[in-house]
Amino acid sequence: MGFWWRPLGVLASVLLVALFLWAGWGWVAALGFLAGIQAFVMLRRLWQEYRLSRWLESPDEVDPPDATGTWGDIFYRLQKLQRRQRASRSELSNALEQFEHAAMAVPDGMVILNGNEQIDWCNPASRKYMGLDCERDRGQFVRYLLRQAHFLDFLDASDYSRRLVCKSPLNRELTLSLQLVPFGEGKKLLVARDITDLDRVDAMRRDFIANVSHELRTPLTVVGGFVETLADAPDLPRGESRRYFDLMLDHTRRMQRLLDDLLTLSRLESTDHTLKDEPVNVAELAHALKSEAESLSHGRHRVSLQLDSSAWLKGNLQEIRSALGNLVSNAVRYTPDGGEITLTWREREGEGVFSVTDTGEGIAAEHIPRLTERFYRIDRSRSRETGGTGLGLAIVKHVLTRHGARLEIQSIPGKGSTFSAVFPTQRLMSAPPSATVIPFPAQGQAAG
Ligand code: ADP
Repeated sequence: MGFWWRPLGVLASVLLVALFLWAGWGWVAALGFLAGIQAFVMLRRLWQEYRLSRWLESPDEVDPPDATGTWGDIFYRLQKLQRRQRASRSELSNALEQFEHAAMAVPDGMVILNGNEQIDWCNPASRKYMGLDCERDRGQFVRYLLRQAHFLDFLDASDYSRRLVCKSPLNRELTLSLQLVPFGEGKKLLVARDITDLDRVDAMRRDFIANVSHELRTPLTVVGGFVETLADAPDLPRGESRRYFDLMLDHTRRMQRLLDDLLTLSRLESTDHTLKDEPVNVAELAHALKSEAESLSHGRHRVSLQLDSSAWLKGNLQEIRSALGNLVSNAVRYTPDGGEITLTWREREGEGVFSVTDTGEGIAAEHIPRLTERFYRIDRSRSRETGGTGLGLAIVKHVLTRHGARLEIQSIPGKGSTFSAVFPTQRLMSAPPSATVIPFPAQGQAAG
């Protein structure tokens, strides 16, 4: 009702004036007055309509009209409406901008396809994974750009629960998992996720199982064969049956060593197996390792020890002993009779270096980066003959990594190798005055 008071008041005043004029000067004066008012109202209305239409044409450039009375009221309300629309438009465009930035930053490739499978939009990751370019390829049919048969089958199937695992058309090293997600009216979102690491882990797992099965099959077959022979021929001469039992024992020990190494690796890898630090007397450990090398060598090699540092280590004694013990046993196993093996403990640029040097067969450069892979061997039969499981250096690498240390390998084929465990400065400590004797675990005990 507030809107009506003012125009009704003006109308009543005009009629009152017209009545006075009629009473004083007659009806001609009153009609003349009313006609004048009518003309004024029409002209004013035309003027305000003109201002309103000019403003509505470009509300952002032209100042909003201002007026009093009813027109002022109308202009004020329109301005309020315009301000509210402007605010919600800017909120909407902010939200859109944020969404676009987020979609651009998503590490997965994302492509929006319209109902005809034409590209509406794609993010930068889709360029990396599928070679698509948002500017260049907008409006293109996706099946003309990604033409691999398995991708076309995947598109045709429109099975939204299925994922297609394939190699990236740009980089064969990348494995992608593609998924189609329907949305809106007939639109689809094509998502490409990089699963190279998962795929690699899966391949490693498969290789690992195949390797373990393969490693166990030979000794099991041998033991099984001898058991059958002994069962079928209980009257075998004593010497022969003794030989069979010895061979069975050999193969059983081989399986035992393999299982011990597998358990050690699995313990080292398990997340709840935390590293328990203790002071490790490296000099004492080195002496124990030297004796171990001599007993493994049975006098076939000259073993020497060179202690250039008196530093101790902070770490897990059993694990460090197991890792360095593996390096020592490899040196003995891969060095021909008459060779030399040297154990050295020294400091180099603040780091602690425990090296095992041999004058053995050496290793060609191309093998060195792969030596710490599980079951990687240069000469499989040599490794087996000498009681190797193919897991020794994998254990060494794990133990050193847990201690923030690294393995350095230098080798010249035909001349020999040096395997060095390099411990960071923060692992070194000076000998504690109170604890000069550290009890060592029994020889051959696995890291726990
Ligand atoms: P394995 O039980 O076969 O010795 P490792 O993991 O300890 O397994 O070693 C992996 C491979 O590295 C060995 O099979 C061998 O070919 C090579 N290797 C390790 N140490 C030496 C060494 N001191 N000299 C020559 N080759 C070595």
